[in-house]
Amino acid sequence: MGLYKIEGVVLRRRNLGEADRLVTVLTRDRGKITVVARGARRPRSRLGGRLEPSTRMRALVAEGRTLDVISQVEVLEANAALRSDLERLGVASVVLELADRALADRHPHPDVYRLLRTALDLARGGPLAVVWPWFAARLLVLLGHRPSVARCLLCGQRLRDAAVWSTTLGGCLHPACRAHDPLAVAISSGARALLAFLLDARPAALGRVAPGPRDLASACEILRGYAEACWETRLQAPGVVERVIGAPGQTSSAAPHASGRRSERAAPVV
Ligand SMILES: [Zn+2]
Repeated sequence: MGLYKIEGVVLRRRNLGEADRLVTVLTRDRGKITVVARGARRPRSRLGGRLEPSTRMRALVAEGRTLDVISQVEVLEANAALRSDLERLGVASVVLELADRALADRHPHPDVYRLLRTALDLARGGPLAVVWPWFAARLLVLLGHRPSVARCLLCGQRLRDAAVWSTTLGGCLHPACRAHDPLAVAISSGARALLAFLLDARPAALGRVAPGPRDLASACEILRGYAEACWETRLQAPGVVERVIGAPGQTSSAAPHASGRRSERAAPVV
């Protein structure tokens, strides 16, 4: 049985047996792995507090017959900043859930690891408004699911004002081309512009975007549904966040410039 070192971010943890935990980690070099933290739920365990979701850490892992066992955890970035702020915690939980659901076990993805670290940094201390939809959009792109938002998926022509979104086909269509997906839904030009922005935005640009609340909510709903379709999953965290802190764009810090009808219709400012 061998030993290996990891650096990674804790995505998720579950109880196992009487006192252990199963911990899912996105590692820098080995992709997503799930390991056992023995005794992590015992009151005096030093492991337990070091393996909370969103914590970045280094550790030693011993190969086991069924599951590998983690030990010697050294915290590189704790999640203290998140625990004190429900909204930031909520955004981080959506980011972690998306990463967990999107990735297969033990496929290294250095780009996704960097993206996750950036998104969690933003969740800890950056402008929050579009962090999780940006992470979802970039994750879809990095994993080969870039949706078409500028041109009609069917006829290839550039879309103007009116368009519909098709989760099944993975992009936008002219209203005239929508017969190919009866489930396609109308998408505003503002939501479409926001999606186009999020798919390629650099993190530094996120603080300068000020989408209207309806466009933001629509883009979030589209990204959530599309991510669920691509990765054949149901996401829980976005719904929980919505119930606890309100729909995207309704909270004060989520839409600082979004009051009034004018900004509601405005395209994102980059
Ligand atoms: Zn068309």
